[in-house]
Amino acid sequence: RSGAVSVTPILTNLQRDCATPLPVLRHVADSMAADMRAGLAIDGGSDLKMILSYVDSLPSGKEKGLFYALDLGGTNFRVLRVQLGGKEERVIATEFEQVSIPQDLMFGTSEQLFDFIASGLAKFAQKEGGKFELQSGRTREIGFTFSFPVKQLSIDSGILIKWTKGFAVSGTAGRDVVACLNEAMERLGLEMRVSALVNDTVGTLAGARYWDDDVMVAVILGTGTNACYVERTDAIPKQQGQVSSSGKTIINTEWGAFSNGLPLSVYDREMDAASINPGEQIFEKTISGMYLGEIVRRVLLKMAEAGDLFGKSVPQKLLSPFILRTPDLCAMQQDTSDDLQAVGSILYNVAGLEPNLSARKIVVEVCDTIVKRGGRLAGAGIVGILQKMEEDSRGLIFGKRTVVAMDGGLYENYPQYRRYLQEAVTELLGTETSRNVVIEHSKDGSGIGAALLAAANSKYA
Ligand code: ADP
Repeated sequence: RSGAVSVTPILTNLQRDCATPLPVLRHVADSMAADMRAGLAIDGGSDLKMILSYVDSLPSGKEKGLFYALDLGGTNFRVLRVQLGGKEERVIATEFEQVSIPQDLMFGTSEQLFDFIASGLAKFAQKEGGKFELQSGRTREIGFTFSFPVKQLSIDSGILIKWTKGFAVSGTAGRDVVACLNEAMERLGLEMRVSALVNDTVGTLAGARYWDDDVMVAVILGTGTNACYVERTDAIPKQQGQVSSSGKTIINTEWGAFSNGLPLSVYDREMDAASINPGEQIFEKTISGMYLGEIVRRVLLKMAEAGDLFGKSVPQKLLSPFILRTPDLCAMQQDTSDDLQAVGSILYNVAGLEPNLSARKIVVEVCDTIVKRGGRLAGAGIVGILQKMEEDSRGLIFGKRTVVAMDGGLYENYPQYRRYLQEAVTELLGTETSRNVVIEHSKDGSGIGAALLAAANSKYA
């Protein structure tokens, strides 16, 4: 049997199971809108947690003065300062530093970790000078981006639910992470205060809104995925009684947990079953950067076992989970040469495969199938959010210019993914309405966004 012939049914079945024709997209968008509503009604009412951010005032552009941001979301933390000059001068200057967190601190005590962060912040603050100047009588204010699951209690406090992403710090879970940081700063004699504790999507929304009043939604597509948007407080039954002076608040959807009506294949189900969180984060596992490469690896493994597509035996490397990464898919899809030379060398280097030209073409088809589904479903999710907002405020979303701010390595670096996402949005909304919906990349919104939120929520304002 020729290799290509024996794997054809695998490819055809994959394409059938992962297809995202308009009715599927429509169903996903409608379900997203319905799940948002259910999650706003009562806690635990849907897959979507719909977390209150307590961010009621977004930056307007008028903010003035010196503000700091601290971003802890992975193996690095970033510190940043920005001097804001109001409507005319805007961002006068910014400076930032990145500090990597020593491995042992990820397994140490809460005090050790926060002391390390506070001392990094202190060193950075000591170097302040030049264009940066604190107004007299003020304490330096910080916007704290903390990308771990937090139960937010107010704009400047929130309890850590659990560490994720390889952190196993003892003594923080169940505590207010802002208090942890404040105590560490006190131990050091560092006089700064946290004015805003924010999720990274909320930071992205704030950063983009500073430049553009029409930004209503922010989406992150990186290793994982999440989205937040501007909601009316009277549309949040579960927080009856809470008031916000603006009548609006940001909701962090935690949309990675969405699962209704997604077109899934046997490879998705097997990857989910083998994951550390089976049955959870299904939308994230279908559309985000951590998983696209792994889904493709599972398909290629099946193809390698079914025929001699890649040679007589299955290379050992192809058996390793997550060996094929999303940037590899991206690099293969940029190969426009006749003989798909780059595809061949990536497959050899990464997975030990030696495919001939027809096999290389099949691999590119597999990548495209998975990436197309991911991008289109992400687009349908965005339309779901916009649809929910439009239903509650006729004409205020689709009847005028509305901007969706995008960030994250997957969106930033994968042109095909970006194109599929935009196509799905256009298909769902129609050409007329989609002209009003602008989906645009917001470059490093979230870092500066947190500092802007510290300014917008300053105790001196
Ligand atoms: P994170 O989400 O980890 O905080 P990023 O927003 O920078 O950080 O996203 C990193 C992710 O983006 C990677 O895990 C990868 O999945 C994806 N990515 C990075 N570079 C590329 C690329 N060239 N092509 C496709 N995806 C990429």
